[in-house]
Amino acid sequence: MARMVLLGPPGAGKGTQAVRIAEKYQIPHISTGDILRKNVKAQTPLGLKAKEYMDAGNLVPDALVLDLVKARLQEEDCKAGFLMDGFPRTAPQAEAFDEILKETNMELDFVVDIRVDEEELIGRMTGRRVCRECGAPYHVKTMPPKQEGVCDLCGGEVYQRADDTEATVRNRFKVYREQTLPLTAYYEKAGKLVPIESEGGPDQVFQIILSALEA
Ligand code: ADP
Ligand code: ZN
Repeated sequence: MARMVLLGPPGAGKGTQAVRIAEKYQIPHISTGDILRKNVKAQTPLGLKAKEYMDAGNLVPDALVLDLVKARLQEEDCKAGFLMDGFPRTAPQAEAFDEILKETNMELDFVVDIRVDEEELIGRMTGRRVCRECGAPYHVKTMPPKQEGVCDLCGGEVYQRADDTEATVRNRFKVYREQTLPLTAYYEKAGKLVPIESEGGPDQVFQIILSALEA
């Protein structure tokens, strides 16, 4: 039984680590970003409200996210604990989350905070390219296609997604710095913070997280 939150800047590989942590501890992985994207796709009332914010790289209003999280926590599988990925993201969300937990007699165990150098992350994200046809991922520096702009696998066009452009990436970081970074101090004060210096590939980072959680 473990109740955890995963914090960290955009592009830090939170999703990848979340899947592994959830599997290791046998708890549901709750990604507010994934839940919102599903609602946008299905054009639910929530999705219709959230879409414009998400497209601009801005945060969805707290009230919408809180309703979604409250409902999700009432599902049966959360009796085993949970791993929150992408929530809370603002101070009001963190405070409301504390209230929800108190009301349901749940206590948060850990807040895993993944730390990565901002300029390195921006380089990683803005260098990202993807094949328009088959979705194969590339990177202009670390994994370029053999022929510029052409997919090695299918010959499709290799392009840059709108949310990976420098302007959008910088905006997502600004939102993170202003609204989410202060939560680090909030959870440190609460004695729940587990800081992780992200170094190396996904496997290495996962091992660092496990050792920190078991210490
Ligand atoms: P990222 O790609 O930055 O890791 P996510 O996949 O977690 O982001 O979320 C995608 C988008 O969904 C965010 O940019 C934001 O608009 C919205 N979103 C997700 N979680 C929250 C939240 N807790 N509060 C407000 N908005 C959120
Ligand atoms: Zn391709």
